[in-house]
This record gives sequence, C-alpha cells and structure tokens, in this order.
Amino acid sequence: MKLRVVVLGAGFGGMELSSILSETLGDDLDLTLIDQNDSFYFGFSKLDVMFGRKSSDAVKIPYSSISKPGVQFRKETITSIQPATRTVTTQNTVYEADVLVVALGADYDIQATPGLVEFGNEYYTFEGAEKLREVIPSFRKGHAIVGVCGAPFKCPPAPSEAALMLHDYLSTAGIRDACTISLVIPYGSPIPPSPDSSKALIKAFEERNIQFIPQRKVTSIDGSRKLAVLDDGTEMPFDLFLGIPKHVAPDVVLQSGMVENGWIPVDRAHLLTKFPNVYAIGDVTSVGTPKAGVFAEGAAKTAAASIIAAFNKKENQSPYTGAGSCYIEFGKGEIGRVDVDFFSGPKPFGIHHDASAALAADKEYFGSSRKARWFGINTA
Ligand SMILES: Cc1cc2nc3c(=O)[nH]c(=O)nc-3n(C[C@H](O)[C@H](O)[C@H](O)COP(=O)(O)OP(=O)(O)OC[C@H]3O[C@@H](n4cnc5c(N)ncnc54)[C@H](O)[C@@H]3O)c2cc1C
Repeated sequence: MKLRVVVLGAGFGGMELSSILSETLGDDLDLTLIDQNDSFYFGFSKLDVMFGRKSSDAVKIPYSSISKPGVQFRKETITSIQPATRTVTTQNTVYEADVLVVALGADYDIQATPGLVEFGNEYYTFEGAEKLREVIPSFRKGHAIVGVCGAPFKCPPAPSEAALMLHDYLSTAGIRDACTISLVIPYGSPIPPSPDSSKALIKAFEERNIQFIPQRKVTSIDGSRKLAVLDDGTEMPFDLFLGIPKHVAPDVVLQSGMVENGWIPVDRAHLLTKFPNVYAIGDVTSVGTPKAGVFAEGAAKTAAASIIAAFNKKENQSPYTGAGSCYIEFGKGEIGRVDVDFFSGPKPFGIHHDASAALAADKEYFGSSRKARWFGINTA
C-alpha cells in the first residue's frame, strides 16, 4: 500500500519535505502537494523586486516545473482542515491522508495597524513589494521609516536589510543627503541571538547615518499628519513608510482547532502536532526558532525523517536541532551570514561571518541549489 501524504503549502517547508519523501519513498509514495499560488519565490526576492533589482517574472518559479516520483501538485485554495480525521477541503475537492503535513506559513494582519493600508506601505507580501517598486522612485527627499508593527516577524534581519538597501538606492540616485532613514524594531538588537551580527549591523547603520530605534514597534499611521506612532506614544514624521505588518497564522489554520496562542504547537523532536500523524513545520508553528525559510527547511528534514521512519516501523533518532544559516544583505553587493543554533545549548547562540563578496556567491548558490533540488531547474 502506498503512503498517502497530503502536504498543505508549497513554500520552503512543503517543497523540502515533498522532495525528501519523493527521493526516499519513490513508488511507495502518493503525495499531494497543495498551494493556492501558481509559483514559488524566495522571501528575499521581495527585496530585489522592491528596489527594482529584479523583475517579478525573474524571481517566480512555476510549480508546473515540479516533476517528482509520487508527487502531484494541485493549485487549490484550502478552505478547511480537519486534523482529527486528516481530511482537507479545498475549493475543488476533499482529500484524505494517512499523514498530513501543515506547512502554510505565516499570514499578515495588515489592518491590525490602523492607517498602514491607506497611508503606509509594506514589502512582506509580493504585491506590496511590487507596489513599492513604483513608489520608491518618487521619494526624493525627507524621512523614510522602516518600521516593524509586531513580533514575531519573518526573517529578523529583513528590516535591517531594507534600511541598508534603501541607503544604497538613495546614494546611487544621488539624493542620500536629502533624505534621512530610521529603523524601528521591537527587539533590543537587530539579531538578538547573535551579538556579533547585531554589532556589525549597528556599525553599518552608524556609518550610513541610519537612525536605529530598538525595543519599539509601530502601532498606527496617522495619515492626515503623516506620522508613525510608536508603542510608547512617540510620533515620527515620515515621507515614506516601509512597514513590516503584524504576522498571524492563516485563517484556515486558525479555524482548524490546531492553534494555541496564535500558532500550532509541535513536539520539538519530530514536529508532530497533538493529532496522530499530523505534522506542522515552518512559520505556522511555535517550535521556538525564528520564522525563516532555513528553519522551515530544517524542520521539514526532521519531519520527513520521522515520516519515513514510521513508514518503516521505526523511530527517527535525530531530533530537530533548530540550526540554520541566514544571509544578511549589507548593501554594496556585500552579504554577511549568521549561523544560529537554537536547541543544542542552554540558550540560542549565533556565529557571525563578516559581509563579503564571497558570501554573496554563497547566497546565490543557496538559491540555485534549492531551485535545482525542488524544481529540477539548473541555473549554475
Ligand atoms: C522580505 C523577506 C525576506 C526574507 N528573507 C529570508 C532569508 O534571507 N532567508 C530565510 O531563510 N528566510 C527569509 N524570509 C522568510 C521566509 O520567506 C519564510 O520564513 C519561509 O518562506 C517560511 O517557509 P514556510 O514553508 O513555513 O512557509 P511559506 O514559504 O510562507 O509557504 C506557505 C505556503 O502556503 C500557501 N498557503 C497559505 N494559505 C493557503 C491556503 N489557504 N490554501 C493554499 N495554500 C495556502 C502559501 O501560498 C505559501 O506558498 C524572508 C521573508 C521576507 C518577507
């Protein structure tokens, strides 16, 4: 009998898990991978789109390229999840699974920050990044704020990256002196588990005259007075606002009865939820790592190992370590890296690698290797 696996969400976690199960189980696998979109894109490509470095088409990878033994991709919107019976409903049909994997990521509650929709901008959705590509060129002078509206948020370095890339953009346009840039984040440092990466970022902000405002978040945008209001009541005038919206679990997950305190709890060893043979991986969980693709991918590897072990009537002996490497854009074509480990020691720790052109090539390989493994597209 083939193992019927239904994977909800073809993002970082869903793609990695489906690839491993296909490679390992092959003919024994009957896996349905469901996503509402027709193409995949890396989170970091939104920064490239927003600053006009790449076109939308150049960063989108169509799911129609997936060709893996035992895997069928379905472009459908999931409307209901019944974890107790491992039944999933989409706008087209109903699926029943032996093993269900929820990898639906984090969604945004943009309305939670009054004024953000009408008077600000956000670059965390693809559409938001595309809109900003049109808006940013009209910003010629004044104050730009990169502001986080809630925690947790995806990819903790991404607000710092946006501020540094905006500096580059304005410098290249010859208008940096006419503009000021502020960065508002709710943490005490840019990357809390890595003091060295945080120090390097703060030094880069100082060198570029970017005002760094830690431990604050943006609670509303006052459009009539063009002010961003922070959680301590501070009012900051702006001419351009680049927001990071409040994150929430997707609505269909919130309705499923799987969520506690906003996200799906899982056991750290196997990524199992409290429902038998139902796993959850990536940003949709509260596993204890940041919301980032590398951690979704790591969780997918562990969940896949557990599913394969159970299929072979064994137990996966390698629990999830919560380790991953995140690249950090410093601008000027230089990229740093932080290797973070969340679960091996008594507390999370990160090792910083200084920004360099060599690491830019490393990040390029990170993208192209996933493109090859997940979609069979070789760009090297
Ligand atoms: C600006 C920015 C920069 C980033 N940079 C990095 C980086 O450099 N490195 C890094 O590791 N991470 C980065 N990230 C974070 C990274 O993109 C996410 O953390 C990662 O994609 C999470 O993977 P996931 O599999 O949990 O969810 P996702 O990749 O978000 O996948 C979830 C999928 O579920 C689908 N879905 C949701 N609801 C439904 C539904 N009802 N029906 C059908 N399908 C549905 C979605 O369409 C989506 O494809 C960045 C994010 C942003 C916004």
